[in-house]
Amino acid sequence: MELSEMTWPGVAALDRDTPVVFPVAALEQHGRHLPVFTDSILLGEVVRRVKSLPVAGRVLFAPLQWLGNSHHHLDFPGTLSASPRVYLDLLRDLAEGVIAHGFRRVVFVNGHGGNSVPLQQALFELRQKYRDRPGLLLASLTYWDAADPAGSVPGLVQRQMGHACEWETSMILRLAPHLVGERSAIEPVPQTASFAPASRGWITRERSEHGHIGDPRAATAEKGEALFRTFARDVVAFLERVIAWDGRSWEGS
Ligand SMILES: [Zn+2]
Repeated sequence: MELSEMTWPGVAALDRDTPVVFPVAALEQHGRHLPVFTDSILLGEVVRRVKSLPVAGRVLFAPLQWLGNSHHHLDFPGTLSASPRVYLDLLRDLAEGVIAHGFRRVVFVNGHGGNSVPLQQALFELRQKYRDRPGLLLASLTYWDAADPAGSVPGLVQRQMGHACEWETSMILRLAPHLVGERSAIEPVPQTASFAPASRGWITRERSEHGHIGDPRAATAEKGEALFRTFARDVVAFLERVIAWDGRSWEGS
């Protein structure tokens, strides 16, 4: 079900345990070879595939929110970003909008790493505010955390998502190869953590001169198709869990 196509009486008639899904992504630099809308294009495709499956009839999808928290990329032209606190408020108001109308299962499906911490914080704060509401499920899932593609995508070099990397470049190659620039001279940028196990505040420029992190040279359209299939399948599996939840148990099914 598409919120953007419904009337208010149509929404009013829905079961309030219907999960409401907010896809959230970004518009930010993706190296020298990928478009700035990469995260929104990729999440849009994952969600499009989810919507083509039967689960979509039991879920209410809001339109994709393309403005994300991308301040760490602001040194690169073209990046647009909501300040972290503005973004927290934006996420809160999206969720508040459907909570006010009685919906109890709110799921953010995320397609940008910089959104993860604000998402978790916004949902944590909302749960405290609505602590007297039983059966309220507020969750966020970053799509590449829904699955471990290592076993289902042959030949993957990277073990985890990077930025404008093997994974993202493969998926854009699958969808829109005309948007992928020259990659032959691109050097891989290691995905190593800095000062682990500490969590370090960082800006992209100090990790990558050109903006990518990972190895875009290893990308192929075939890997991209396999990645899309894996991610869409596991996002669907997660939504099935949200639908099947009994409204009480901690772990869900
Ligand atoms: Zn990205």
